[in-house]
Amino acid sequence: MKEGKNIYQSRRDFVRKAGKILVIAPIIALPVVLGKKVTARGNVWQIDPHKCTQCGQCKTKCVLTPSAVKCTHNFRMCGYCDLCGGYLRQGTKTISTAAENQLCPTAAITRTFVEEPYFQYTINEDLCDGCGKCVLGCKDFGNGSLYLQINQDLCVNCNECSIARNCPSDAISRITDKEQYIPKEKI
Ligand code: SF4
Ligand code: SF4
Ligand code: SF4
Repeated sequence: MKEGKNIYQSRRDFVRKAGKILVIAPIIALPVVLGKKVTARGNVWQIDPHKCTQCGQCKTKCVLTPSAVKCTHNFRMCGYCDLCGGYLRQGTKTISTAAENQLCPTAAITRTFVEEPYFQYTINEDLCDGCGKCVLGCKDFGNGSLYLQINQDLCVNCNECSIARNCPSDAISRITDKEQYIPKEKI
């Protein structure tokens, strides 16, 4: 009985102590986590869209799944084409939003009618996995207004970006957190 009481008390103490640890631990850890994030924000990894060759490794080499790399659209460069090389698969018989006509494997691009003959293409970043297929299509058959960027809200700012380590074009480097993104402009 006495032993049972001790066990009960020790369990109760353990639970109480564990509870305190569970409550206190995040309070202690939070500044460490935030501090690490804030410190790391001094410089961030980013893709130079003019160097990127859409090799596909941004999708597969990021430590996150899906990748922190997302397609971005510079609407100022876009031709709002009906026949969009970033949206439609090559050789499609009809221009329509049918799934089999779409180049994007995850249906992350929305095509919206603007006015004859213009259409707007919008990226759903939640669906985009950074494969770069649309970027390549837009570059080859359009104005090159689609490009890849590391979404800084998702990126955990690894000490050494594993995509940068594998990038064949040396397109990823550290930039200051004031810039964060490298907009694609006409060159
Ligand atoms: S790894 Fe480099 S070249 Fe390949 S898609 Fe990413 S940034 Fe572009
Ligand atoms: S084709 Fe690839 S990069 Fe382009 S929107 Fe779809 S998932 Fe993203
Ligand atoms: S720094 Fe890390 S999380 Fe960010 S893009 Fe590179 S591998 Fe992905």
